[in-house]
Amino acid sequence: MEFISVQNVSFQYAEEENSRQVLNDISFEIKKGEFVALLGHNGSGKSTIAKLLNALLVPQKGKVFVDGMDTSDESLTYDIRSKVGLVLQNPDNQLVASVVEEDVAFGPENLGIPADEIRVRVDEALKAVDMYDHRLKAPYKLSGGQKQRVAIAGIIAMRPDCIVLDEPTAMLDPKGREEVLSTIKKLNKEYGITIVMITHYMDEAVHADTVYVVDSGSFVTSGTAEEVFSQVELLKKHRLDVPQATELCHKLRACGVPLERLPLTEEDCVSMLREVML
Ligand code: ADP
Repeated sequence: MEFISVQNVSFQYAEEENSRQVLNDISFEIKKGEFVALLGHNGSGKSTIAKLLNALLVPQKGKVFVDGMDTSDESLTYDIRSKVGLVLQNPDNQLVASVVEEDVAFGPENLGIPADEIRVRVDEALKAVDMYDHRLKAPYKLSGGQKQRVAIAGIIAMRPDCIVLDEPTAMLDPKGREEVLSTIKKLNKEYGITIVMITHYMDEAVHADTVYVVDSGSFVTSGTAEEVFSQVELLKKHRLDVPQATELCHKLRACGVPLERLPLTEEDCVSMLREVML
């Protein structure tokens, strides 16, 4: 069943008639438990889509529904934001307290949840992102990946059905990226949380159930990771990379190596090449 429904949405930041349309009549649906990746070069409209999904922005044309709730109905904003949490790029801008567990408690405190329930939620959220052992530390002593996981715990503590992450790994080193990506995958697979992740890293997008490619405020293609990344030339036209393994096999195929499909990961690439070579 669909959880989020975006219906013929157009959006512009300024109200003037002739100001630039940032999104042009986009429609898509996200099912409960789905892992969605949004790809597109800078300025294509991805963050704007993210903000429309939790009612930080409301479309001028079209509708966004979250679990059946119309985001343009202000009386529903609180309910919508408690169902759809937003994680941003820079963890330093999202951590507010001087101790990790206080930081995670901040969201549920604002929701007016009783103290003993907050305690349970904070512990649960810190365990979900594997940061429970660091609960008494000062956030500034943590690595970037650890900080971002604490920021994610702060959202989890509000028990959302869906988390939208706007380039959550962009400021992190490879180890931090790996930690945050595996946390996101765990939240999706083990906790059933719906994920919408904006990323510039193709090797992160391959983990999504559905990939959408945005350019100039419209979708240029969408589908499973395999379907989307097999369109190498189209992605390049829209200034995007493809995963390294996909690119290599695309080039090999152009030289006549008989590959029926293109792989997404190194492991898949190795097993496909082994089959044609042995
Ligand atoms: P992306 O996330 O793909 O980089 P954005 O959704 O942030 O793209 O931006 C899409 C377009 O909207 C860009 O041209 C950007 O300059 C413009 N834009 C984004 N935020 C604002 C804002 N607050 N006011 C005016 N224009 C904005």
